[in-house]
Amino acid sequence: MAKKILVCGAGGFIGGHLVKKLKGEGAWVRGVDLKQPEFSPTVADEFVIGDLRDQSVVKNVLDQPFDEVYQLAADMGGAGYIFSGEHDADVMHNSASINLNVVSFGQKAGIKKIFYSSSACIYPEYNQLDPDNPKCSEESAYPAAPDSEYGWEKLFSERMYLSYYRNYGLDVRIARFHNIFGPEGTWRGGKEKAPAAMCRKVAEASEGGTIEIWGDGKQTRSFLYIDECLDGVRRLMDSDFTGPVNIGSDEMVTINGLAEMVMEIAGKKLSIKHIEGPLGVRGRNSDNKLIKEKLSWAPSQKLQIGLAETYRWIDKQNQQK
Ligand code: NAD
Repeated sequence: MAKKILVCGAGGFIGGHLVKKLKGEGAWVRGVDLKQPEFSPTVADEFVIGDLRDQSVVKNVLDQPFDEVYQLAADMGGAGYIFSGEHDADVMHNSASINLNVVSFGQKAGIKKIFYSSSACIYPEYNQLDPDNPKCSEESAYPAAPDSEYGWEKLFSERMYLSYYRNYGLDVRIARFHNIFGPEGTWRGGKEKAPAAMCRKVAEASEGGTIEIWGDGKQTRSFLYIDECLDGVRRLMDSDFTGPVNIGSDEMVTINGLAEMVMEIAGKKLSIKHIEGPLGVRGRNSDNKLIKEKLSWAPSQKLQIGLAETYRWIDKQNQQK
């Protein structure tokens, strides 16, 4: 019998890729989202267009004891969306409502297992002030001090899923994603994240031109390619480890370094102009000690490889627009 799986947020970047992976593994998949995937048609067996803030929608899509539920739906975007402060109320209200509904109706429906996508944004700002030595080991989440409401909502929801695990025996898996990127991710419009934004800026620039970078570019991050992210998610789901656990790359780069890498991939020499913009923490890197210990696995693909794939895809989109 094929596994029956519900993917919430199946019209999004990670959800769209996840549905493809689960179908490839032979599962029967129902997707739900406010919208269809933007860049390629869904391969889900059923796709429900619905708003997960609405309890009647959630009750309808959780009408059976699914073997697995993946909860990826969130009001979400890159730094320009979640760190500007302009969307705080929506981000908190929308994402918390989705999670409250999914966990309670999921529990009532008798689902066997649920995955929740948390974020590196839950880590305290005070451990991420030095760009060369950020601390993001799982236990360092407390005392809590995320630098955005997006991070606070993720932390609240982590705790809610864990409460359902303790009080109702709901089988929960929680991962904290660190900057996932790849083809078919948002690449323009204000919700795109650094790797996609950088690829777009380089693709749009003519040889010898200039690209703009928010801040001094010395802030550090790590970026994980979508395929490796999904390998980690599936391994976590198949394990008996609840988490929370980081799913991220530990190849830390500066944003200037990321720009240089994209220029090299594109074969373009461009100047960088630093401008003011929303930044987030000064430094961040995935700590992969726990995932190695619990799952005997950690992502290892070099950033350059996934970035080249992503650049090719964005360059093509840009030429077709
Ligand atoms: P995404 O924005 O592409 O996908 C989220 C999807 O949720 C969207 O398709 C959106 O339409 C849907 N959604 C939003 N509100 C909804 C609602 N009320 N009802 C139904 N659907 C709704 O984002 P993504 O990059 O695919 O991220 C997936 C998950 O992983 C999110 O929870 C995100 O917070 C988390 N995450 C992502 C990253 C990353 O780097 N991409 C990092 C950390 C955490």
